[in-house]
Amino acid sequence: MKTVLSGIQPSGKLTLGNYIGAMKNFVKLQNDYQCNFMVVDLHAITVPQEPEALREQSEAVAALFIAAGIDPNKANVYMQSHVPPHAELGWLLTTLTSMGELERMTQFKDKSAGKDSVGAGLFVYPALMAADILVYNADLVPVGEDQKQHLELARDLAGRFNHRFGDYFTIPEPYIPEVGARIMSLDDASKKMSKSNPNPGSYIALLDPPDVIRKKISRATTDSGKEIRYAPDEKPEISNLMSIYSQCSGMSLQEIQDKYEGQMYGGFKKDLGEVIVATLEPLQQKYDEIRKSGQIHDILAQGADKAMEKASRTVAEVKERMGFLPAK
Ligand code: ATP
Ligand code: MG
Repeated sequence: MKTVLSGIQPSGKLTLGNYIGAMKNFVKLQNDYQCNFMVVDLHAITVPQEPEALREQSEAVAALFIAAGIDPNKANVYMQSHVPPHAELGWLLTTLTSMGELERMTQFKDKSAGKDSVGAGLFVYPALMAADILVYNADLVPVGEDQKQHLELARDLAGRFNHRFGDYFTIPEPYIPEVGARIMSLDDASKKMSKSNPNPGSYIALLDPPDVIRKKISRATTDSGKEIRYAPDEKPEISNLMSIYSQCSGMSLQEIQDKYEGQMYGGFKKDLGEVIVATLEPLQQKYDEIRKSGQIHDILAQGADKAMEKASRTVAEVKERMGFLPAK
């Protein structure tokens, strides 16, 4: 059975972008693949996190995985930091990564722009992400479009290792949705929707109450035209809202365009608010149940145990190939 790996950072409240770009596919893939879905806490600390908030968000992300429909009996759900081989392989792969490769990463450029001080972890983190994937010899990585460049690095590092130390790693493939791979901010359609954006009006959080969702959609920026038409270059705001509509309702972009032909933005946005609320309400209910039940810690412990088996074997084999003296 082929292996799938992906992760989400506990760096804030999960957004509709995370759900549409990544989590929806996690749920789809769990029936046909050996899936590993992590809360990537080691990635989250590449930008400053308050300890209490990090702990709370970590548990929240894990609970949201389950609430979104991931079945812990089918897929491994765990914390990245509970499986130390990730960090160890991350270091080994960092030594195979060039500065030039990391300097080209657009996420690094975006996240470091305008900052006085930028942590070295933010710079080298793509090598850790490569390790996350390669430590399970994953075949498939469901991610949003913004992660494509990091995945390309993981593929290059796998190839580089294989070339220097003999064939070992599988070259992983990205798995990116056709619609919704890059959900844009509600206040600025030139930026992707991100949970770390300081303006909560820029994103729909998966746990936003229905009225907040309705309000955020009604305030989302649009052009001053009238047409409800999918044209990302010409009409980025409306096209973004249409992608969200499509992903939440199951309707195609064409069906949405036909449905709203000749109608005003206001009515379309009102309906979109309801479509999102209907998508998120069952998830929110399930989330509350899971948090109350306290079962998340057991799920994470079980997931980490299973992940540890494969990950520690990989690191031992990689170290042997690289020439490390085995411990007695
Ligand atoms: P941060 O701002 O802290 O980086 P984020 O919202 O980008 O948070 P990540 O944890 O970095 O979330 O990414 C988790 C997954 O969600 C990745 O697969 C990523 O590609 C996907 N993703 C993130 N933002 C979007 C988006 N706007 N549209 C589609 N997919 C997205
Ligand atoms: Mg991100």
